[in-house]
Amino acid sequence: MIPIRLDGVSKTYGEDSEAEPTVTVDLTVQAGEFFTLLGPSGCGKSTLLRMIAGFVQPSAGRIRFGEKDVTGLPPHKRGTGMVFQNYALFPHMPVADNVAYGLKLRRVSKAERVRRVDRALERVGLEGYGRRRIDQLSGGQQQRVALARAIVIEPDVLLLDEPLSNLDAKLREETRMQIREVQKSAATTAVYVTHDQAEAMAMSDRIAVLADGRAHQIDTPRKVYSEPATAFVARFIGRSNVVAVQIESVEPDVAHVRFGDGRLIVHRSNQEAPVVGETRQASIRPETIRIVGEADADFHGVIESVEFLGSTAMLDVDIAGSRVTVSTPEIDVEAGSRVGLTVAARSGWLIPS
Ligand code: ADP
Repeated sequence: MIPIRLDGVSKTYGEDSEAEPTVTVDLTVQAGEFFTLLGPSGCGKSTLLRMIAGFVQPSAGRIRFGEKDVTGLPPHKRGTGMVFQNYALFPHMPVADNVAYGLKLRRVSKAERVRRVDRALERVGLEGYGRRRIDQLSGGQQQRVALARAIVIEPDVLLLDEPLSNLDAKLREETRMQIREVQKSAATTAVYVTHDQAEAMAMSDRIAVLADGRAHQIDTPRKVYSEPATAFVARFIGRSNVVAVQIESVEPDVAHVRFGDGRLIVHRSNQEAPVVGETRQASIRPETIRIVGEADADFHGVIESVEFLGSTAMLDVDIAGSRVTVSTPEIDVEAGSRVGLTVAARSGWLIPS
């Protein structure tokens, strides 16, 4: 297994020398890692993936697979397997021929081809499907054929460009775990593109959150969720309240802050030093706020709206002019009523930038 390194990799489309790059990043994908490029539509995810694959040439920077600089190499010399959103299979050909395609190009012997195709189909849970035609398969099965075709060449690097976006929600959830298992058992380094944050959280070892042409954060799903590097990340990953707080005092790992009509202890990065008195942004997750009786309340607010979700309700609450979303199991609440609130100790996060 090999790592992938992108050093100052940047892409500017068009001839205009004044044009801003679409995307610029430095990042390393560790050997064997399942690494996701996540961001809203148009942030440059596919452009980055296509540069790693070799379909798009970077305007600047170097791309390395292990020790090897692949920046100038054409796609077929990079040892990558790729899975596309639209599968890109040959519809009239049998499954086995589709999967064997890359092996034929590499002049692998017939006997070896049969052995490897069977193994790849087994890996994706399609043993016995070799003779079926592609157009006789469901969308989910076609996607698994595309995955088998990508791994059959035993690629150093597996690239997946929104492979689940044409499947319905339930199938998407089932297939994402399967993709991850196949990637681990095939022992390949994977780069996965999606705009779906839940998918990224469920599947990835690490995620690069991209927006405005740069990586806002490169971290594990847990860190991205609980310690967002920017307000954009806090809002994009799950649901969060990004609120203005005033710093009252600072200790290692935490800051004491004023928020609304109360006080709060939030955790923070020790890489930076908040200044007492300054106004900063903090991320407070809806599920960390509880409705409590007057005696236990740290904050007070007025419920503006109630969205009933079954076992929980989502409330919009006005706390001294700040609107926050609260996720609560208390479903007998009504818009217009005044409530006491508390935030779980140290669950808030002071956004570093
Ligand atoms: P994403 O995959 O995050 O949706 P893309 O990488 O497809 O984003 O696109 C990023 C930006 O680059 C978009 O503004 C898109 O219009 C532009 N772009 C993508 N491909 C080309 C191209 N071949 N020529 C010119 N602009 C392009």
